[in-house]
Amino acid sequence: MTRGMHVTPNFSRLLTALTAACCLLGAGPAGATRLRVVATTEDLAALVREVGGDVIDIESIARGYQDPHFVEPKPSFILRLNRADLLVVVGRDLEIGWLPPLIQQSRNGKIQPGADGYLDASLNVRVLELPTGQVTRAMGDVHPLGNPHYWLDPENGRQIAQSIQKKLSRMQPADAGYFAGRLTDFERRLTEAEKRWDAAMAPLKGVKVVTYHRSWPNFADRYGLDVIGYVEPKPGIPPSPGHTLDLIAEMKRQQVKLILVEPYFDLKTPNAVARDTGAKVLVMAPSVGGEKEITDYFKLFDYDVNLVVTAAKQVGAR
Ligand SMILES: [Zn+2]
Repeated sequence: MTRGMHVTPNFSRLLTALTAACCLLGAGPAGATRLRVVATTEDLAALVREVGGDVIDIESIARGYQDPHFVEPKPSFILRLNRADLLVVVGRDLEIGWLPPLIQQSRNGKIQPGADGYLDASLNVRVLELPTGQVTRAMGDVHPLGNPHYWLDPENGRQIAQSIQKKLSRMQPADAGYFAGRLTDFERRLTEAEKRWDAAMAPLKGVKVVTYHRSWPNFADRYGLDVIGYVEPKPGIPPSPGHTLDLIAEMKRQQVKLILVEPYFDLKTPNAVARDTGAKVLVMAPSVGGEKEITDYFKLFDYDVNLVVTAAKQVGAR
């Protein structure tokens, strides 16, 4: 502040007091208290960051290189949830094995399921493998409410970002215009990137693949990959010798040359299947943070598209 501005001492003191108050409250540019958002996965955190920018705080729980069905609870997670204003979850029971006790122990009424500060990101997305008839956890299937790995289609990423924008705008209305602008910019960049990914994947339409877990139905559906089998006999059930032999026979019959594996599974069975069938094992990234370089939602698809396109060329599967 320069002398030429003729600021009265009283006004100057008021400004100083206001600035101090804002700092204490952790206020954003608009002067309101910053929302504390916790997302269960790094994918959701990346999308919250796209919309929320630098006027909210965002932390995630599961790391992108971990199996999101099985996350080891830590006291620090409870602390994070205790302080949160908003919890964003993948839903469809992805987190059923570890999140409910953490929410309960957080003793935070704001983020309980059904409360305003609880956002299920699956509500407006396209979910595949929806169960028909009665839902049971037969043989430990970890996908009882449809496939929860739905963020692996960029169109679903767009829908998730829109849900986040609506929720953030309701919870931090002073920044609603900022969130709307960030969403528009995200969608514009996503549309550009989708053209790039669609073009790169176009020659792979109809290419047959096997995946370890059922993590890739949305990715495969988007880009026309044909998933003909799984290394796991059922989601969440480890490979068995009988199932592996059947899988090898089927891969030979259909001449399948690509096996997509998530980074948290043992490569022993996939490698054995690959040796027997002449297929190539690809350790794909199912999430942001799955590899060090995958720091946002765009880099996730950049990484996986590049990996599968390169491998398909190598094995002549295109
Ligand atoms: Zn799963």
